[in-house]
Amino acid sequence: MNEDVQKKVLIVEDNEDIANLLKINFSDSGYITEVCGDGNEALEIAARQKPDLVILDIMLPELDGVEVLKVLRQVRPRGDLAIIMLTAKGDEIDRVLGLELGADDYVVKPFSTRELLLRAKVILDRPVLKQDQEPSMLTHKDISVDLDAYKVMKGDEELIFTATEFRLLVELMRYRGKARSREQLLSSVWGYSFDGYARTVDTHMRRLRQKLGEDADYIETLRGVGYRFKE
Ligand code: MN
Repeated sequence: MNEDVQKKVLIVEDNEDIANLLKINFSDSGYITEVCGDGNEALEIAARQKPDLVILDIMLPELDGVEVLKVLRQVRPRGDLAIIMLTAKGDEIDRVLGLELGADDYVVKPFSTRELLLRAKVILDRPVLKQDQEPSMLTHKDISVDLDAYKVMKGDEELIFTATEFRLLVELMRYRGKARSREQLLSSVWGYSFDGYARTVDTHMRRLRQKLGEDADYIETLRGVGYRFKE
């Protein structure tokens, strides 16, 4: 590749043979590659390394590719992060759902690596669309959240959050002054909503508040309802 900056590709695929094949081919083509085999790990790596492209298998252990796609799109719109889904042969539903949820492209297994590389290049070489409708910065008093840099500052101090805590904070700040139920938070932050998972929200909220320190009271607990970020 002749770009000045090497693009980063995250390969999320639980089949080791396919993952290795992709890693070799993308590395040989000049990309910086990272491989992982499950959905939760993919989200952690994506938050940390900010890849330019995610190759995302749909059938994954823990969190499947569609759920991963939903979560990734909440923080990184199309044009900022490219996502190519790997779907099983003839799985029309996955394909349609993937594109509706914001995948840039899809490739049906078994696929030609050469074709996948070409599609990746086409997407990555596209001019970047500026997303002006979405603010890239959320602020409240001394707290500022930079959505592009994935960074939270409290005054001059950077607070280090996990990907989940970060999304939770962003979601609450976006709905400042409005109540968000645990179910709403589950579905928008985790991308799914199952009965009995409400405690997951509380657990992450507790850690988020600990890290906010005395600013924790910006987030109010609404008994029997959920949470609200103060106006
Ligand atoms: Mn798979």
